[in-house]
Amino acid sequence: TSPTEPSGIKPLDAGSVHKISSGQVVVDLQTAVKELVENSLDAGATNIEVRFKEYGLESFEVVDNGSGIPPEDYDSIALKHHTSKLSSFTDLESVATFGFRGEALSSLCALAESVSVTTATAAEAPVGTVIEFERTGRAKGKKGKAARQRGTTVTVSGLFKPLPVRRKELERNAKREFGKALTLLHAYALVPCAQENRGVRLSVTNQTAGGKKTVQLRTDGTPSTRASVSAVWGPKTLENLVELDLCFAVEVEAAVLRRLGKAQDDENANEVRVRGLISKFAVGCGRNGTDRQFFFVNGRPCSPSKVQKAFNEVYRSFNATQSPFIIADFILPTNSCDINVSPDKRTILLHSEGNLVQALRTALEEKYAPSRSTYDINASQ
Ligand code: ADP
Ligand code: MG
Repeated sequence: TSPTEPSGIKPLDAGSVHKISSGQVVVDLQTAVKELVENSLDAGATNIEVRFKEYGLESFEVVDNGSGIPPEDYDSIALKHHTSKLSSFTDLESVATFGFRGEALSSLCALAESVSVTTATAAEAPVGTVIEFERTGRAKGKKGKAARQRGTTVTVSGLFKPLPVRRKELERNAKREFGKALTLLHAYALVPCAQENRGVRLSVTNQTAGGKKTVQLRTDGTPSTRASVSAVWGPKTLENLVELDLCFAVEVEAAVLRRLGKAQDDENANEVRVRGLISKFAVGCGRNGTDRQFFFVNGRPCSPSKVQKAFNEVYRSFNATQSPFIIADFILPTNSCDINVSPDKRTILLHSEGNLVQALRTALEEKYAPSRSTYDINASQ
């Protein structure tokens, strides 16, 4: 086509570009809430309250007692790619925080009717600053004051209202979307124990239009997986779970070694440890209990489908009719996984995944071989 020919393709205005690229981090209610909770954990909070209004349709708010945001950052926190957590992409391999792209707040500003932040660091408490944002992520000039102990409250109202089609969809599926957010929050209720010795109290409430407020989830901050399971699902659930603690070596593929710049004869196996809890073989949690399967890589919640499949298949070889409750944190060298492959960070690339899954199957089968005979004996009685 000649340059003079009229074309149907026109440049998007800056606002639209912003919306499109932002749509990736926050794709639904659960990813929106997840990003806020991750920010609270990154800020070192030990108390996190998630408050939904009308299943998140009206608003949702995350209140924490973390570090707070220092005044010099007020104007930049919601600008795209502004983050206080990573200085360069070379840090990414060893990144210990949940956030590192500086996209969540900026996305939320573009995707919601309004976003406001009330925050105080130790120096400002008990006086907090209220910051409101434009859709572009720019902080409004006029900032209010409000009573605030150290920490941060982020309030998001009217999620997806600037995008009528997505808003309609959210309204149509409000309860299901809320349920998904809750399931994901269950995983975050378990994070603190995956990240050793960190007790975090997490509470989740929903207030309906009628004004009734109900507690959906509450942990008491005891830094143990068992305590969290008991708080979330009730102490009876624990009776059907056993300790998971596997340790195995995973052969690192030659291609991965090359990429890491390691020689073939270097240390070429990774020690992998898997810790958590799993159903006893006789008592799983129903046929489709996959909403009670939680995976972490170095304390980071994720959905590794091949790993999940391996767990379920091994389990079903013992108990054909049920799925296991699983909490499994994979502890592996940070250079053997890549967390920056999907915008929501739920997909984690495990190097040499095939070898890892194979080694995991073997370890699981070995662990449960004694149960097989016990289970068979019980079953035949
Ligand atoms: P990222 O987490 O990738 O840095 P975000 O958009 O989620 O990007 O957050 C931007 C910045 O805002 C963070 O780097 C942090 O400095 C600040 N921030 C956001 N939420 C909180 C919070 N709850 N407590 C303290 N600081 C926060
Ligand atoms: Mg973040």
